[in-house]
Amino acid sequence: MLEHVRAHLTGAFRAEVALHHDPRRPADAWDARRRQHSSKKMLSFLLEQGPPPPARVLGITDQDLFIPILTFVFGEAQLGGRAAVVSTARLDDGVPVVSPRVLAERVAIECVHEVGHAYGLLHCASPRCAMGRSPSVRDVDAKKPQLCRDCLSRLAERNDRSGG
Ligand SMILES: [Zn+2]
Ligand SMILES: [Zn+2]
Repeated sequence: MLEHVRAHLTGAFRAEVALHHDPRRPADAWDARRRQHSSKKMLSFLLEQGPPPPARVLGITDQDLFIPILTFVFGEAQLGGRAAVVSTARLDDGVPVVSPRVLAERVAIECVHEVGHAYGLLHCASPRCAMGRSPSVRDVDAKKPQLCRDCLSRLAERNDRSGG
């Protein structure tokens, strides 16, 4: 799965992607009342434990993530920041039984989405673009793990402005 994600991230952002397995979890991210992990705390953990700036860091976790205003999130990123996180928990709800191939594709799509936010991209109106909104797994399945032409040119514009 991680190789699949790496291939798509490299393709979408033309950036070097290093894989790193780290079984550690932030000690303070578990919310006992919600029985979920705080995605904000996950992002802080990634910033503290991940590679130094200017590298961006994407965490993939099997823990169910939430932000206060939503029941759950597939992932979260700091808009135009360095950290992003994606959870496999709701992408693999087991109903219907998800094949590893389908799961890997969903994870790749949401990883491109969250890293896109970290690169400063906003949501896209195209339902096929990885930057399209996806409140449900069905919406995720309609997307591709790629950026549409509009998002690619927005990304290129941002890169030009930031000098690389
Ligand atoms: Zn989003
Ligand atoms: Zn797009």
